[in-house]
Amino acid sequence: ASVGIAIGPLEREAPDVLLKHADLALYRAKEDGRNTFRFFEPAMDAALQKRRRLETDLRNALRKNQLYLDYQPQFDLVTGRLTGYEALVRWWHPSEGEVSPSKFIPIAEETGLIVPLGEWILRTACAYATTWPADTKLAVNLSPAQFKTQNVYELVRRILAETGLEPERLELEITETIILQNTEAVLETLKRLDQLGVSIAMDDFGTGYSSLSYLTRLPVKKIKIDRSFIDTLGTSEQTSAIVSSIVGLGQSLHVTITAEGVENESQAEILRKWGCNQVQGFYYGRPDPEVPESEDMIANQPRVA
Ligand code: C2E
Ligand code: MG
Ligand code: MG
Repeated sequence: ASVGIAIGPLEREAPDVLLKHADLALYRAKEDGRNTFRFFEPAMDAALQKRRRLETDLRNALRKNQLYLDYQPQFDLVTGRLTGYEALVRWWHPSEGEVSPSKFIPIAEETGLIVPLGEWILRTACAYATTWPADTKLAVNLSPAQFKTQNVYELVRRILAETGLEPERLELEITETIILQNTEAVLETLKRLDQLGVSIAMDDFGTGYSSLSYLTRLPVKKIKIDRSFIDTLGTSEQTSAIVSSIVGLGQSLHVTITAEGVENESQAEILRKWGCNQVQGFYYGRPDPEVPESEDMIANQPRVA
């Protein structure tokens, strides 16, 4: 259970105000992971007002062309060759400036705006990818909320037909939380996408439930190790053990392993030594709205002996 608590002398605070405050505290208790309690604080009211404003602004953001996509390159760790790009959505807010997707995607999910937003992201990215060299893949993030509210298979099929992008060039990134919802329906959708030729990648692996049984049940072709593990690679014995285990798991299951958030050569070195397949991170390339025209982008790195 989650509990929100507001205390006040009834002669000063009307019952409906107290109730509203308790509700705000409850909202915070849920936000903080549920199964806890929170007392009302005036700052909660301000935070909610700000969120409501963002919500309204997000509704208009698509129409006002405030959204755009960045593309971050991914490289094969052995050959150094570019394999593809991940599309990452951006919001340039007129007064707040750049708002992080980690902040506005949850709002879009709660309000249902994720449906038009997700469709726009997929269409825009697929259309752009048709202008890239034919062996360059495109990865697009899908939110679990999209699977709840719409037929994702139909959406993907329609947009591929509309834009003319070959299904084999599209990779959809899902997260572990998707397993928690209506597994059979999700499984069916993912299987149909797989049959269509689209590949599925498991994003942020290691941060959620990391259930090994679903890895064999879902048609997952790629596992992306969350960047929180790469961050302390080489400095923490625990994370090093986790990363090398995930790489080993990928080799046994014949699944491509991509390391996210690689920021320096020493991390790349360790990953290469362990046999990680692909890398993505600031060390290799930052997210950028433009994809370079050069046909063969090769990461600047020493080859394995
Ligand atoms: P993600 O899919 O795991 O995306 C990778 C995030 O790591 C991106 O943050 C990227 O900018 C950042 N990153 C990449 N390399 C490095 C690095 O070397 N160091 C560090 N510190 N960070 C790095 P971003 O763009 O802020 O996106 C955050 C999350 O928001 C994404 O995580 C994804 O879950 C969500 N998101 C972004 N775009 C979309 C989208 O189009 N649709 C959906 N549904 N979610 C999206
Ligand atoms: Mg991703
Ligand atoms: Mg990720």
